Amino acid sequence: MPAPKSMQAMVLDRAGRPLKPAELPVPMPGPNQILLKVAACGVCRTDLHIVDGELTHPKLPLVLGHEIVGRVEALGAGVEGFAPGMRVGVPWLGYTDGTCSYCRESRENLCDHPRFTGYQIDGGYAGYTVADARYVFPLPEGYSDAEAAPLLCAGLIGYRSLKMTGDPQARTPARLGIYGFGAAAHIVAQVARHQGREVYAFTRAGDAKAQEFALSLGAVWAGSSEERPPQELDAAIIFASVGALVPLALKALRKGGVVVCGGIHMSDIPSVPYEILWEERVLRSVANLTRADAREFLALAPTVPVQTTVVPMPLNRANEALERLRQGELTGAAVLIP
Ligand SMILES: [Zn+2]
Ligand SMILES: [Zn+2]
Repeated sequence: MPAPKSMQAMVLDRAGRPLKPAELPVPMPGPNQILLKVAACGVCRTDLHIVDGELTHPKLPLVLGHEIVGRVEALGAGVEGFAPGMRVGVPWLGYTDGTCSYCRESRENLCDHPRFTGYQIDGGYAGYTVADARYVFPLPEGYSDAEAAPLLCAGLIGYRSLKMTGDPQARTPARLGIYGFGAAAHIVAQVARHQGREVYAFTRAGDAKAQEFALSLGAVWAGSSEERPPQELDAAIIFASVGALVPLALKALRKGGVVVCGGIHMSDIPSVPYEILWEERVLRSVANLTRADAREFLALAPTVPVQTTVVPMPLNRANEALERLRQGELTGAAVLIP
């Protein structure tokens, strides 16, 4: 059955405005592109940063969404290795130039001329989308479409953040703090535990629901971000976009520990006395993902096995999904179903 001519989409016209429902033409796949019928699309905090104008210069009007699970509908010229009906995933990294110094050093996540899905390229808050086949991945079986969606950003970038915290075998048990227990954290906690790490979960003060959720996923301790953990941490990942968490996380580290900021945007980091960084503590960020990260994590997830907790919502309730994410009301990841 050929794709219809038009589709429903939720469109960002201008930063600071709610998304608008719209009827758009179904895009045509160009050379190296595939047309996908969207089955599910995860809602990520980065989407909120784009809507709020904290990430500047998006393509406008824009279809958000970079955790896309879809089925191949049609292939553009030159595409190999995909067939109609295949289930695939589209992540944030949508294009790299392949020629800049970073691409040549296998650090395409830092490419000088990248394009990102749901930012410079229309994404998955729609009935259909086109994607560059070189940045599209087969998805593991055993996950429903909605369950697979959060693997594609919360999972991938969460996993890259986890790798930046160092070797879990260097010390047993390696103690990992996670600040902000949302979609990325709920996946990373499972992988970390699988690697033999102890997970310490930090949430907004009084968020008993998030703390219970963390404990149910195997965290050995859950408390408020202002609390000191019962043990010094070897590493911490901050997924919340709150700069004030950086000094708190640094203070929770043992000597030589590392704090990884896993988000794309964060409020300002307050000034800190040098002594909380001293003794070879490290503070670093993580940017985007490489295709190697994607292949590695999508192979690893079903072996853990990572189980995702999702809140499916119809596509036309995208604004509500974003608002619930903003308010910290979601347990797990919101996923839009067109
Ligand atoms: Zn490049
Ligand atoms: Zn994301």
